Amino acid sequence: MNKKFYITTAIDYSNDVIHVGHSYQKLLADVLARYHRLIGDETYFLTGTDEHGQKVEKSATEKGIEPKEFVDKIAEEDKREWKSLDISYDRFIRTTDEDHIKFAQEFYLKSKAAGDIYLSKYEGLYCEGCEAYLEESDLVDGKCPFHPNKEPQKLIEENYFFRLSKYQKFIEELLENNPSFVFPDSKRREILSFVKSGLRDFSVSRKNVKWGIPVPDDPEHTVYVWFDALINYLTFGVEKNCWPADIHVLGKDNQRFHAIFWPAMLKSAGYELPKTILVHDFFSLNGQKISKSLGNVIRPSELVAKFGADGVRYFFLRHGPLLGDVDITWNKLAEVYNADLANGLGNLVARVAKLCERTSAQYSVLSAQDKFSKEISKQLDNFRFDEALKIIWGWISKTDKKIEEVKPWVLEGEKLKEALKPWVAEIRKIATSLQPFLPGTAEKILGQFKGPKIGSSAPLFPRIK
Ligand SMILES: [Zn+2]
Repeated sequence: MNKKFYITTAIDYSNDVIHVGHSYQKLLADVLARYHRLIGDETYFLTGTDEHGQKVEKSATEKGIEPKEFVDKIAEEDKREWKSLDISYDRFIRTTDEDHIKFAQEFYLKSKAAGDIYLSKYEGLYCEGCEAYLEESDLVDGKCPFHPNKEPQKLIEENYFFRLSKYQKFIEELLENNPSFVFPDSKRREILSFVKSGLRDFSVSRKNVKWGIPVPDDPEHTVYVWFDALINYLTFGVEKNCWPADIHVLGKDNQRFHAIFWPAMLKSAGYELPKTILVHDFFSLNGQKISKSLGNVIRPSELVAKFGADGVRYFFLRHGPLLGDVDITWNKLAEVYNADLANGLGNLVARVAKLCERTSAQYSVLSAQDKFSKEISKQLDNFRFDEALKIIWGWISKTDKKIEEVKPWVLEGEKLKEALKPWVAEIRKIATSLQPFLPGTAEKILGQFKGPKIGSSAPLFPRIK
């Protein structure tokens, strides 16, 4: 039987179309999903939109339309953005989907039956940007660290609460005893130290927010948007019988929800826990945080229009914020594109193809023996997307060097054919290993080099000025 592999990304909040900052986690998940499909695992890849809550309600009102109409548009635009980047999800889940609403309500009742949900009064701070309650200790200069331009709201309202405090020991042990539960380890330690400062119950319903899933046994309330959103992973997982998730990929602004709230919720409702929470850092653009209020939002499709899907994928996967924040500029993107793709990979492929054409020789046909490199598998199993690409680009420059040494352009006939054989094999290996990272490019190269005849074709990465 095939091994099952279930991977998710955070679902994007529907108050606006996604921007380039959201794309990194989709790319990481996409690479892993493609890789697991390639090695024959039964793969499930989930992404989608988080459509309820106060901020969405407000954005729709500002546009003078119903929230549902508003989120329908956002979902369609988000899907277009992901398509431009070749994100190969199996389902695009929306928290307004019927199956999710039903499942979220069932989940709520299970947790309540376990004695973990009770009615009380919330008095404290709320960040509308995060749609999350804030602790005094979270504030930086009196503001939410993720929304320094927004004044936190003071809230006093009757809410249902989830007994997170009951799971203090459980979460502590989970984080302490399972080093692989959070990647990278620095994030695990950060979360653990937050947990040790003491977990407090959190609100799971809102009374003054209409746009949400009704609390099943008290429809005056709607389910708090985070509680609703997290359950999406399980909606799909239970339907497809692929729960528990192998990996949840998300940005660091979501790490507490996924590494603390979510496992406690699952334990409460009687489900298994996901295996790994993969947390990444953030992009900035020209030294600025990417945000609507700063007016510097770029959509992935705008980058794709200039650099191609694989140009963008390469840059992000090789230089993205895997283990630390990263600043991007258009210049940096263009530089990397020209150096590594137009010159590096593109040039090597064009060069060898041209020589092959000259010999008009027959080559062995690409076969199932051209398997995915173990070296690259190892890097992907350790989530080192950047290292994997570094290794592949090492093969490219090594082959380039070899060609310079052998000087095949002075060779003819059989001699030229013999000289080309190992390079054809190397290019096939490179393209095979590139499949999860640069799927379009890999397909083109494998098509061009599948044999028996190999010839030139259009440049893979035209230079950018
Ligand atoms: Zn915030």
